[in-house]
Amino acid sequence: MLGSGTSVGVPTIGCHCAVCTSSDPRDNRLRPSILVSYDGRNVLIDTTPDFRSQALRAHIERLDAVLFTHAHADHIMGLDDVRPFNFRQKGNIPIYGAPETLASIRRSFPYIFENAQRETNIPQIEAREIDGQAFHVFGVEFQPVPVLHGRQTIYGFRFGEAAYLTDHSDIPEQSMQRLGGLDVLFLDALRYKPHPTHSTVDLSIRTAQTLGARRAFFTHICHDLGHERAESLLPSNIRLAYDGLEITVRAE
Ligand SMILES: [Zn+2]
Ligand SMILES: [Zn+2]
Ligand SMILES: [Zn+2]
Repeated sequence: MLGSGTSVGVPTIGCHCAVCTSSDPRDNRLRPSILVSYDGRNVLIDTTPDFRSQALRAHIERLDAVLFTHAHADHIMGLDDVRPFNFRQKGNIPIYGAPETLASIRRSFPYIFENAQRETNIPQIEAREIDGQAFHVFGVEFQPVPVLHGRQTIYGFRFGEAAYLTDHSDIPEQSMQRLGGLDVLFLDALRYKPHPTHSTVDLSIRTAQTLGARRAFFTHICHDLGHERAESLLPSNIRLAYDGLEITVRAE
């Protein structure tokens, strides 16, 4: 878990609330992202504005692919920081996303995709569209899982016995059917109060219980939730994720 925080991060700029000023390191939440490591490969889900700090903190020394859930700023703005991996690995890094997500990334980072003569180093990436069908990344199957993020449909991903469902306010029935038999479910639980584009603690408890996931970890958390107190109120198989959390899951 590279980042368990909401779009503005925790602490939040200018805020003096109990969570933003907490001394519990689990209340320090960078923007939302996870790293999936297997067979010497590192597959990143989303490049947050904190990606550089996250990579340094987690001692990430290689990057083999990036999967994008959607193109909101808190999920893409660290893309430029893949460059050190290009220098080290001397090759392109594939990035995967829905066509509309890749189109937004092209608009956000036009210099990466222009064929103009370059005077500086730019990210060396190779865009690969995903269409809802499962795809393989270095031998592991990733199943896109459409979820509703307000009115927008974005992707979560299932891999083996785990699934990562960041920003969502609703999960269509067809997608729920792709989420049976999970050992580990990471899911958005922004806060207690309802939000038009995000899941809440109560809604995500219901989702985890409906799916029968053995363990669930909440992420994309705002400063309304202090780690210790919020976790003490949860069922025992549901925990708050925190930056630096490492979980081992079976590839299925
Ligand atoms: Zn987000
Ligand atoms: Zn605060
Ligand atoms: Zn979003």
